[in-house]
Amino acid sequence: MNAQKLSKRLETVASFVPTGAVVADIGSDHAYLPCYLVQQGIVSRAVAGEVVKGPYESAQRQVRAEGLLNNIEVRLADGLAAVEQNDHVDTITIAGMGGPLIVSILDKHPEALHSVTRLILQPNIHAKVIREWALSHGWAILDEVILEEDDKIYEILVLQRGVMRLTEAEILLGKHLIAQCSEVFVKKWTREIENWQRILQDLNKAEATPEIQAKREELQQLIQLVEGVL
Ligand code: SAM
Repeated sequence: MNAQKLSKRLETVASFVPTGAVVADIGSDHAYLPCYLVQQGIVSRAVAGEVVKGPYESAQRQVRAEGLLNNIEVRLADGLAAVEQNDHVDTITIAGMGGPLIVSILDKHPEALHSVTRLILQPNIHAKVIREWALSHGWAILDEVILEEDDKIYEILVLQRGVMRLTEAEILLGKHLIAQCSEVFVKKWTREIENWQRILQDLNKAEATPEIQAKREELQQLIQLVEGVL
């Protein structure tokens, strides 16, 4: 992967960035995504935020090497602290982290979201917590994609401001992804069910304490919920 040829995962994230947007990519270790967006003429201004010094320096080197210092500001900052008011950022991308970390980044500097109208989030795991966060923070899910690359399955969630209603199954699996019911989606959730069934078998061998019993019931309900969708 490089700034000219992104991974399928990051290319899909990029495909949801509106033309002419002002983007902040948070956790931008090589700044590949902002460099690609500028080089493709999708955006002319971007911020690349990175909290760790080594990846921050890689991002700086990349932006310099691509000759994009006038277009991309690379900032060493924790999450949305990379976004300054006069950047007028309207689109934020956060990719390649767990759902809980993405949510903690969104929660830590809510003032940075004032001018933002679109969030493009790619959790490696636990997309559910992002859907829960969206529901309770006035964001609606515009689109969702599930894809497989290098034997890993990724979800991408595109949020815009608004109100939505989701069922328990839609919070866990994604309303759009349920509607698409793609091969990758079925593969992901079939694997999850198999995993839960393995844990259940182990729990069945354990002493039936109230905690074990509660865990069993939780897993049985999850299996039932997901089987009801597939
Ligand atoms: N976004 C790139 C991608 O999807 O390929 C890089 C993903 S990499 C696995 C995650 C990056 O996020 C790391 O470089 C890490 O240092 C950075 N990161 C983690 N927490 C962060 C935070 N609170 N603020 C900014 N960057 C963060």
